[in-house]
Amino acid sequence: MPNIEWRIYEAGYCTHAECATRWGAPLAAARFPALTFFLDHPQQGNILFDTGYSEHFLHATKHLPERLYRTVTPVQLKESGSLRSQLSRAGVSSGDIKHIVLSHFHGDHVGGLLDFPEASLICSRAAWEDLRLRTRLGSLRIGLLPKLLPDNFVERVSWIEDAPLRNLPPALIEFGYGHDIFGDASMLAVSLPGHAAGQYGLFFEDRNGQFIFLIADAAWSSQAIREGVPPPSLVTAWLGNTKIYRQTLQRLHRLAITSPEIRILPSHCSEWRLR
Ligand SMILES: [Zn+2]
Repeated sequence: MPNIEWRIYEAGYCTHAECATRWGAPLAAARFPALTFFLDHPQQGNILFDTGYSEHFLHATKHLPERLYRTVTPVQLKESGSLRSQLSRAGVSSGDIKHIVLSHFHGDHVGGLLDFPEASLICSRAAWEDLRLRTRLGSLRIGLLPKLLPDNFVERVSWIEDAPLRNLPPALIEFGYGHDIFGDASMLAVSLPGHAAGQYGLFFEDRNGQFIFLIADAAWSSQAIREGVPPPSLVTAWLGNTKIYRQTLQRLHRLAITSPEIRILPSHCSEWRLR
């Protein structure tokens, strides 16, 4: 197994009512960090899983109708800065990023993509096919901002669905198979349907032998996974498919109970600060 090191970065955050993310949660606004993940693979180099918010996101949502995105979920970038600026402070330049794995195309996941023009891109063909058929307003309605994708997107992309299928560890049997995105079994892309078209998570073992499962927006918090409590159906139906979202969440809930040794990381959970 390759020695994979990884770090979490918060690339901005948004605020909105907590009850929109977990049934029965308070109505008060809560902070939802846009977490991104930096992985260092000994052969493949530096890899990102999603890119969070950035100045590009703020620019793309400056005017109506895109401004509505920021109105519904107000975004703050100042405190942490974009992922690119944080990596730069850590000694990693934009050109050092070799690959970016995109979990799905929501604006808070692809917001920093334009900051890494040299990276190859890895994402779901199904997500792309869904996006490219939508109108500007049809995209915006469900949190998609095509302006955040580079013009040469198609030349740079590899589709997750084309990567060979591998068996997942027995603990993840309910999730089917994983796509071996680098062909060395080091990182398996795992389908997490329901939240958005073609959403994939990433499963890997780090250099300390810890199993990590990055699950993007299959849940908005670790608490939702522990309790198996979904968001209101109004939210999940708006963005995706409520029935399938709940199936995926229940799989994660059972996984968290049966395999506590696997660290499951949602992309917008504040609990990561406590670990
Ligand atoms: Zn999302």
